[in-house]
Amino acid sequence: MSLSVKEDLKRLVQEAVESERERLCEISLWLYENPELGSEEFKAAELLTRELEDRGFRVEREFMGMPTAFLASYRGRGEGGRVAILAEYDALPGVGHGCGHNLIAASALGAGIAVSRVMDRLDGEILVVGTPAEEGHGPSAGSKVIMAEKGLWDSVDAALMVHPSTRWSVGNPSLGIWTVRMEFEGRPSHAAASPHEGINALNAATLAYIATHMLRQEARRDANLVIHGIISERGLASNIIPERAVCEFGVRSSDEEYLEEMVGKVERCAEGAALAMGAKVKVTKRRLYSAKKLNEPLSELLWGNLRILGVEVEDLKESMRGIPLASTDFGDVSRRTPAAEGYIKIAEEGIPGHSREFAQASITPTGLEAMIIGAKALAMTAVDLLADPKNLERARKYFQAH
Ligand SMILES: [Zn+2]
Ligand SMILES: [Zn+2]
Repeated sequence: MSLSVKEDLKRLVQEAVESERERLCEISLWLYENPELGSEEFKAAELLTRELEDRGFRVEREFMGMPTAFLASYRGRGEGGRVAILAEYDALPGVGHGCGHNLIAASALGAGIAVSRVMDRLDGEILVVGTPAEEGHGPSAGSKVIMAEKGLWDSVDAALMVHPSTRWSVGNPSLGIWTVRMEFEGRPSHAAASPHEGINALNAATLAYIATHMLRQEARRDANLVIHGIISERGLASNIIPERAVCEFGVRSSDEEYLEEMVGKVERCAEGAALAMGAKVKVTKRRLYSAKKLNEPLSELLWGNLRILGVEVEDLKESMRGIPLASTDFGDVSRRTPAAEGYIKIAEEGIPGHSREFAQASITPTGLEAMIIGAKALAMTAVDLLADPKNLERARKYFQAH
């Protein structure tokens, strides 16, 4: 396909998003006003799938056994690449859309619809994937991981999404995360009359808590290790030697192998503490989300399209080298297929994520404009990939080499 045809299509998808502006803003607002926790996003999933179906997408609801997940697809002229745009639409307890996922949903919807309008001039397929419970609530928690395990992302040539933020950037790393749960079992007894007959599970948990925190001193500084935890069960009354205590930890790092090694050491802290106190312990370790595998060629396309749209995006290489702050199930997508995530600025620096202020920012003119720009950039990047298979090839080669 000639360069001018591709540029023509990229202009058309921008116009298509523009023509949907009002509806996309309405949907962003509606989701804001009707926040639903993860795995319970029934209204959001219904709204989005209905919208996609009305626009000619083939929609599979309750995708992969998850009631609020969906797969919407729109085919082009012939065989070609398969590009997925990911939607999230779960909210948080207390702060509603404090992570701005209402805008992720609207931008994915807008991008999908825009690309579908030019699919008669492209080969391949555009997908809009409804991925619930990113914030980890309910049975569909981390749905992208469930989809990864069931092989969805292996069947996709590239995955794209945008997320609200306080900056414009692409290609930022994320942390892999494991959870470690330690259940200590002791023996109850009268805390004054017969403490010698008891085994204090809370003391074992306290030792394990302290030992786990002491690990941090020896942590590799280039691996961005983060350990955070609580003692979630700690006895029933002060005059009973606690029979049961539970610690819950999150262990995160940008280095997947190192993370596994550290999780092993955290487990050792639990065992050592139990041994010291004569208690029993059961440790449950679970990989939650993987660290992102960055894809430079794909990120460059998304970055370049934001630039075309007049956004001052942070330097790509600098973003890629930046310190990873949080974890996302998009990390697991990026380990299976070339993937790029862009951050769209909806609020000023200093407004914390997961807050009411951030939720409010998602429905301001600035927030809604960022969503529209995000939708355009996603659609333009999908066109770059479908119209020019060399771009997909570059992303795939980079993926295989890293
Ligand atoms: Zn969040
Ligand atoms: Zn989020």
